[in-house]
Amino acid sequence: MRRVVVYPGRIAVETADIPAPGPDEALVRTIVTGVCGSDLHAARGRHPFVPLPYRPGHEVVGVIEAAGSAAGAHKPGQRVIVEPDLPCWACKMCTSGRENLCENLQFFGCGYKEGGMADVFSAPAARLHKIPKDFTDYQAALIEPLATPVHAMRLAGDLTGAKVAILGSGTIGLLALTAARRAGAATIVSTDPLASKRELALALGADAVIDAGRDDLAKAVRGELGESADFVFDCVAYEATLAQAIEMAVKGGTVVVLGGARKSASVDLPVIQEFQVRIQGAATYRWEDFDDATAIIGGDAFDANRFITATFPLSSAAAAFAAISSGAEVKILVVADSRTG
Ligand SMILES: [Zn+2]
Ligand SMILES: [Zn+2]
Repeated sequence: MRRVVVYPGRIAVETADIPAPGPDEALVRTIVTGVCGSDLHAARGRHPFVPLPYRPGHEVVGVIEAAGSAAGAHKPGQRVIVEPDLPCWACKMCTSGRENLCENLQFFGCGYKEGGMADVFSAPAARLHKIPKDFTDYQAALIEPLATPVHAMRLAGDLTGAKVAILGSGTIGLLALTAARRAGAATIVSTDPLASKRELALALGADAVIDAGRDDLAKAVRGELGESADFVFDCVAYEATLAQAIEMAVKGGTVVVLGGARKSASVDLPVIQEFQVRIQGAATYRWEDFDDATAIIGGDAFDANRFITATFPLSSAAAAFAAISSGAEVKILVVADSRTG
């Protein structure tokens, strides 16, 4: 089998032995794997929690080839996605329904011994989930990415009738737009520096879009919303975007940071305190978020093909990483050779 290994400055496709699944594991043949913004950060050595080298691929769709004796109901031939967070199930967070915050968290495809960007991989069977029969592979590949903003909406609170700003219209920002609408937001303004992404945000249902490069971004967003934002979703998570998010939030409003943050940032502390602004971090998801994401993707309004802008065969994984660094693509997939051509 081949698998992708990310080294400092180099993406390699290496040959390895097919892993032998343990009793509670399954062997899965990969169909498609998403390349995530976090993969790009990791490949550049800028992911604070993923040291190099690592074996990427946490947004995975595959088909079970073999299942261990204690792998539950999973059967060979079944199409599955991976829920990549691998909690310990014993710590305080795990035993209080917040296993995404496990204090001993391992993450499939992000520092774990295996990732999905390979011909085959083994994974704990309990973290594999059956895909609805009528889903395409591309639809299934978006369940994990959409589960992150779905979780962020849950953490934000009640969005019914809310005025919402979404900073950044990459994969997370566009999926956050979808999730915010689904959560009941009344007016949504999206931003991005790229015209093509702003157009996509409009096509996907933003009420207005604004060039993120504008100096008066907060004022412009407020103008389109008609008032300050009840909720701001920072899908970029730079110091500058966090400052803009705080600036456009209403007094008592909420800023949710769900983009992958890589550096610390200074904030306008007097504003946070005086205006009682809540800053809420959002990390990954729980299975309920996968369920909701699956329901959204299965709905008539959702068109997976709009989000997937490029595909590469496994042998060209390095090109997939290069493509994501351009910033112009939305979701990039690495596709099994059997599904290409
Ligand atoms: Zn991801
Ligand atoms: Zn735990």
